[in-house]
Amino acid sequence: MKYRNLGLKLTPQRLAILEYLEGNTSHPSAEDIYRKVHNEFPTMSLATVYSTLSALKVKGNVLELTVDPDKKRYDPNTNMHNHLICIQCKTIIDIPGAGSVALPEDLGQDFAVFKSHVEFYGLCPSCKKKAKAKEEDSHVR
Ligand code: ZN
Ligand code: MN
Repeated sequence: MKYRNLGLKLTPQRLAILEYLEGNTSHPSAEDIYRKVHNEFPTMSLATVYSTLSALKVKGNVLELTVDPDKKRYDPNTNMHNHLICIQCKTIIDIPGAGSVALPEDLGQDFAVFKSHVEFYGLCPSCKKKAKAKEEDSHVR
C-alpha cells in the first residue's frame, strides 16, 4: 500500500480519509472530507483531517490547490495535469494529460522546469446555464 510510509499511525479514521481520497476527482476541501468521513466516524475531529492531509502533502501523496482563496482544496491525483475552475461554484475539473505551456525560448533555456500547472477560469456548464437564464430573464422585464 502506498501510504505505508506516511509517518502516521493508520487509525481506522485515517484509513477512512485515505479511502475517501483514493481516486476522488472532486478536489475536496478539508471540511468536505471531514463531513464525509464524520458520518462513519462521529468521534473524528477536523484536526485529524488536517494532520492526515498535512502528512500526505509532505510525502507528495496529495496536491494542495490554492485555487479557492477561502479554502484549500486537495487532489490525490499527483500526476501532472491542469484544471478547469468555475469562478461561480468553485468546481474544479481535471484536464487529463500533461499539457504544458511552451516557455519563451530565452526563459526556457536557463530555467530547469520540473512541473507546471495551468488553470483555466470560467463558468461550468451548470453555472453557465444559470447565468444565461438570468440574463434572458432580465431582458424580459
Ligand atoms: Zn459552476
Ligand atoms: Mn486535479
